[in-house]
Amino acid sequence: MPNKNSKAGHIPIRTCVACRAKRAQQELFSFILLPSGIVYDLAQKLSTRKYYVCPTPECVESLSKWRKKRAKGRASK
Ligand SMILES: [Zn+2]
Repeated sequence: MPNKNSKAGHIPIRTCVACRAKRAQQELFSFILLPSGIVYDLAQKLSTRKYYVCPTPECVESLSKWRKKRAKGRASK
C-alpha cells in the first residue's frame, strides 16, 4: 500500500473579507449575511453563499465596517 499523504494539496483556500488574506478554510470563521446582520455558520450546515473572516479581533471587528460599506454600495443606484 502506498503511504501517500492524501491530505496534502487538498485544503480549500478562502479569502478573509476584512484583510483579504488567503487562508485554509478551516482556519477561518464562516458566516452568512442576512438583512438582520451577520450570522456565523458555526454548525457548517448552511449552503448559501458564505463569507470568511480571520478569527482575530481585528478582522472580526472590521466586519461591521465591511458590512456597512456593502450595504451602502447596494443602496446607492
Ligand atoms: Zn483577516
